[in-house]
Amino acid sequence: MSKTGESNSNWKGNKVSYLGIHKWIGKKLGVPKECDKCHAGMTIVKGRRSIHWANISGKYKRDLSDWIALCTLCHTAFDNKNKIDFKEVPVIKDLIKRGESQTSVAKKYGVDQMTISRVITGITNGKKNCYAEK
Ligand SMILES: [Zn+2]
Repeated sequence: MSKTGESNSNWKGNKVSYLGIHKWIGKKLGVPKECDKCHAGMTIVKGRRSIHWANISGKYKRDLSDWIALCTLCHTAFDNKNKIDFKEVPVIKDLIKRGESQTSVAKKYGVDQMTISRVITGITNGKKNCYAEK
């Protein structure tokens, strides 16, 4: 047995294990084709995939039902699910309209400026994202 299980108390913060589990999920589920949430297709920008496997429980279980494919934006929204809620989108758009900078709004919500930019434009990597108006 290698040191990849829950027995390692520092497991979550361990980069090697983190990569290990992502390798494992890639082997099991392959390369994700589209985002499970917004159904954006996979794009590759500068060698980086737009869609990744994300862990639902945050416990990085070796359990296939604990994983979903998420695009960068949904992943950010997922990771920050208590920060940028879809309900906040009109509020954010209004703040920007009233002249507040994206950086300042980002600070307020505890996210990076790119996230605010994606919320405002509704576009990630040249494609419509989950914040795009329907
Ligand atoms: Zn998505």
